[in-house]
Amino acid sequence: MLIGHDSVPSDQTLLMEQPIEKCLSISPNRLSMLRRLGVYRAYDLVSLFPKDYEDWTKRSVIAELRDKEDCSFCAIVRQKPSIFRKGRLSVIQTVLADETGVIKAVWFNQPYYRTKLEVGTTYLFRGKIKRDGKSFEVINPNFREEGTDEIPGIRPIYPMTKGLTQNNVRAWVERVLPEILSELPEPIPVSVRKSEHLCSASYAYEKIHLPQDSSEIEEARKRLIFEELFMIIGGLKAIKRQKASEGNAKSICPDRAAKESLKRFIRSFPFKLTEDQERVFLEISMDLSSNRPMNRLVQGDVGSGKTAVAAAAMCLCAVCGHQSIFMAPTSVLSYQHYMNLKDLFEIVGIRSDLMLGSTSVAEKRQIRARLKSGETKVLIGTHAVLSEKNEYNSLALLITDEQHRFGVRQRGALSADSAEDLHTLVMSATPIPRTLAMILYGDLDISVIRSVPSGRMPIETYLANSAEDSRVYEIMKRQMKAGRQVYYVCPQIESDEESEGIASVTEQYELFRNSVFPSCRVALLHGGMPSDHKDTVMRDFSEGNVDLLVTTTVIEVGVDNANASLMVIENAERFGLATLHQLRGRIGRGPHRSVCILKSDSEDELATKRLKTVCSTTDGFVLAEKDLELRGPGDFFGTRQHGLPALRIANLYRDAGLLERISEMVDRIFDKDGGFTSGESARLFDAFTRRFGREMDNPPL
Ligand code: ADP
Ligand code: MG
Repeated sequence: MLIGHDSVPSDQTLLMEQPIEKCLSISPNRLSMLRRLGVYRAYDLVSLFPKDYEDWTKRSVIAELRDKEDCSFCAIVRQKPSIFRKGRLSVIQTVLADETGVIKAVWFNQPYYRTKLEVGTTYLFRGKIKRDGKSFEVINPNFREEGTDEIPGIRPIYPMTKGLTQNNVRAWVERVLPEILSELPEPIPVSVRKSEHLCSASYAYEKIHLPQDSSEIEEARKRLIFEELFMIIGGLKAIKRQKASEGNAKSICPDRAAKESLKRFIRSFPFKLTEDQERVFLEISMDLSSNRPMNRLVQGDVGSGKTAVAAAAMCLCAVCGHQSIFMAPTSVLSYQHYMNLKDLFEIVGIRSDLMLGSTSVAEKRQIRARLKSGETKVLIGTHAVLSEKNEYNSLALLITDEQHRFGVRQRGALSADSAEDLHTLVMSATPIPRTLAMILYGDLDISVIRSVPSGRMPIETYLANSAEDSRVYEIMKRQMKAGRQVYYVCPQIESDEESEGIASVTEQYELFRNSVFPSCRVALLHGGMPSDHKDTVMRDFSEGNVDLLVTTTVIEVGVDNANASLMVIENAERFGLATLHQLRGRIGRGPHRSVCILKSDSEDELATKRLKTVCSTTDGFVLAEKDLELRGPGDFFGTRQHGLPALRIANLYRDAGLLERISEMVDRIFDKDGGFTSGESARLFDAFTRRFGREMDNPPL
């Protein structure tokens, strides 16, 4: 693997590479808190960018203060502060005034301020303003006496973790920063810095932490946003180029007879491939025909028919005498793939096998013998398929279904383990906006299936609240009477005191079984159940032996039951849009009209807007863009969650245009250097590994 311990520049003579505990005298306890913020080396500390600033230099007068804003203002203390208790809190209160007005000041649990504040003295206050009816309050303000105390200028506010204070982090940064400014990597070529009007690395890192005024912050931010995107895009493109330059994968070129078998296989599907499916399969075939390993992502919304494309790719390998692995994240899904594909493969004489964690030792032994001899051409299963004990006759292709359920580490581990490089295909149903895909899958080629097979009825999605329960139950009852099946999704397994108002599967299950639908077949499914038990429930549901499945999000992944036509999702506001979209993709898979009901009692404006967005479109890509716009990139498709570097300062929605531009710039640089081992591209890749190497190595899964 390219990114690994060996390749991370480990120049220990550089101060910035030193472990942070060597640069600061700091207790083990504090050290572990810093690690929680992602700080291991000195470099990580100075890359911990402020999320905001406290500006003591911009002063308002009391009449100008506005609700919810952090403000600084000069005022005189008008009253002796009073102290009283409110439950377990001690509260200090006084009145502040300037020539434009008065404001109440309130401090919680800071009784010593009572003696510090002198009536009649003027202080500079800073704090959050809160509107209370017609009057205003300032809550827990900091203050300095004018002329006596030192007045801070602009102070950084850092991302925090429990146990640390802003002042801790500020002091550490001030200690470490000056010593490493001269060592910071400069990945951006001079020509680019000039044309983009970017300041130097050392200026940017200094000013982002210790600015004198807001224009310095702006200059620093501009440079650091650019640098972050430039490094990530550059690093990922370098990885992609390196992969593409290796030439020891099997080249799959079917002869006439092989082509005939392939055609026969595709014709045996109970449907005709859509244009998108055909195009993506063509792209894959082109990749496979080369001895450069394929690294392709197939992105297609739920129900867009990715399985058929994967099956055709495996068939192509098999008819050329090579083997494939098809890996899925759960045993239920693996089993389903196997059952769907086994007979189809047999038609053209291809043997497939299923290997799960629960497969017996004896059976595994038999499968292994068939893999080794080459009799089995397609191996379907969970993680178990990656067993080191599996030996292959001629393994060519590895397909990972529902890639977003696996970590990035797997992506590397798989191909690194095989002596020969494999063609790899990853499939994901999570539609991601282009800009996000560039970061998440920047090292892969991407094929998109946008259309959904025709003849499907679009899923209708509605909002409801708990006052409408009886209506919802009525709809459920009607569907079950008509022979359809229903999913009822809740966000948690059991209720506890803290989660009042949040539905749990166990409670809903009891309620439905005992009082609401006593004559229906109700089943319970959640991640806390033993896996063979889960499999049985899923199978019962697929085979139509269960009318109503009360479940957590465990059903989110790939399960296919064409008879399920209704889904109710409790506390929908608690789920990300991606999850909601994935969940509702479980219905609408057959000829029946399908309805998804999102239940929510949330009064939060943004939450309601998000849910309405889900109701308004069934196009996952549109949804992804909308969500990126509403909430920023973290929510729909958290990059951290996928083991790729978290953006510390850039924002994929706001900076989308810049990202595209940088992508083109990086291509030009690599083209010019003819690779990434020399000149500007080498420096870029070095900077990337320095900054993100650890994160790429240890995805937080
Ligand atoms: P996903 O992309 O979510 O994995 P699947 O591969 O599970 O989707 O396909 C969803 C359903 O659509 C399956 O029941 C499959 O048989 C069906 N299907 C796939 N391709 C087509 C097609 N071209 N025409 C009609 N139905 C199709
Ligand atoms: Mg699928």
